[in-house]
Amino acid sequence: MTNNTALRARLAQLFPDAPPLAYVRTYGCQGNVSDGERLQGMLAELGFSFCASPDDADFVLLNTCAVREHAQVRVFGNVGAFKPLKKSRRRMKIAVCGCMVQQEGVAEELRRVFPFVDLIFGTHALPKLPEMLWELYENDAKVTDVENLDGSITEDLPLRRESTFRAWLPISYGCDNFCSYCVVPHVRGRERSRTPEAVLDELRRLVGEGYRDITLLGQNVNSYGKGLAETPTFPALLQAICAVPGDFRVRFMTSHPKDCSRELLAVMAENPKICRHLHLPVQSGNNEILGRMNRKYTRERYLETVQTAKALMPDLTLTSDIIVGFPGETDAQFRDTLALVRAVEYGALFTFIYSPRVGTPAAALPDPIPRAEKVARLQELCRVQEEITLRRSQSLVGQTLRVLVERVGKAEGTLAGRLESNAVVEFLGGSETIGHFIDVTITDATRLVLQGTQN
Ligand code: SAH
Ligand code: SF4
Repeated sequence: MTNNTALRARLAQLFPDAPPLAYVRTYGCQGNVSDGERLQGMLAELGFSFCASPDDADFVLLNTCAVREHAQVRVFGNVGAFKPLKKSRRRMKIAVCGCMVQQEGVAEELRRVFPFVDLIFGTHALPKLPEMLWELYENDAKVTDVENLDGSITEDLPLRRESTFRAWLPISYGCDNFCSYCVVPHVRGRERSRTPEAVLDELRRLVGEGYRDITLLGQNVNSYGKGLAETPTFPALLQAICAVPGDFRVRFMTSHPKDCSRELLAVMAENPKICRHLHLPVQSGNNEILGRMNRKYTRERYLETVQTAKALMPDLTLTSDIIVGFPGETDAQFRDTLALVRAVEYGALFTFIYSPRVGTPAAALPDPIPRAEKVARLQELCRVQEEITLRRSQSLVGQTLRVLVERVGKAEGTLAGRLESNAVVEFLGGSETIGHFIDVTITDATRLVLQGTQN
């Protein structure tokens, strides 16, 4: 055990000329990005500075994802690539953390294949980073901590946020839904909620610091409150958030369709601070596949929710995640998904080819569909969505919309900003507006990026 003061002193002794440099790379979802901000916060508090390339780093931390095999293969490749660097920079320590190593057997595999890795820790050990670093730097030990310490939330970890105006705000951790294809409940543990006080405190702080676009995070925000004494509901939390004074807007992800209530949609419709954007992942448009996925809603119920949402908010943009090639998905079942996508008219889709994950029930299902067929389905789905996106974008031409200016744009002299719908707009302007809301009139719409002029 240690305290941060002793570790800071130890690091200052080991790095007398300049602070040690950390390079942190995060893979995967916004939940991981948010964890990455906490990991960086802890490192900063211990005296680390940060660098943009691993070549300059004294401490490399890979914050990993496990949701699809591809993510895992990439991390293994990246860790392997550090071997020569580690040889030439003897002081350099390498750490791998997060969802990938929380899976059973993966830490052992990493140790076996890459004995030069110094520290391996899973999702539950994140708050213990200082203790683990003490072992590394004081005792020169190799450390592995993938214990399943499920169920707790550590508040008040330091944070180093990536943006000064856009923030991630976790409201719950873990997942109890056990969709049959998904590794998340296995690596993130049981669903637990932060208290409304903790969420509201962080939100007030963010608003006070000038944050303008705040995304509430949870694997299923709709079941927020589970496990808390007074079980506040998500719509009630949203109302409390909207009552906080200040010029900010809020969005949330992910909203599980099985728990997306009329009450939630009504609260969205009534509150101008809530973005007219709803990420409502359908995964498939076919009832048999939805059943096998253990999603607990039907196509019909999903479409009813969409209809209610659109009736309450005609300017709403829906987005979704879709998995193609779930084990045994027939062409006709895939066509049901395509038809649903056409019917809903999403603003954007996140599309994935099914990836078997060890330990999940779907991985045991027969999967006779050849990969080439799955790739063709994915391409067809993307083509259909592109047409819809283009049509939706063109319908915005002439409208004046509120944009949060985020960064310099791709073309010379332009800026890029985000609409409530989460779509990106580019327009001419000076960088002094970055981080502020401005009004932009949409002038042209290609597929990916809208063009506009500043009012
Ligand atoms: N909690 C969120 C999703 C988290 S994972 C929800 O329920 O919507 C993000 C997305 O990855 C999922 O929505 C799903 O589309 C995709 N995904 C998850 N497991 C997958 C797998 N085994 N293969 C392919 N895609 C997967
Ligand atoms: Fe995975 Fe389903 Fe939980 Fe989302 S709701 S994280 S898809 S198990």
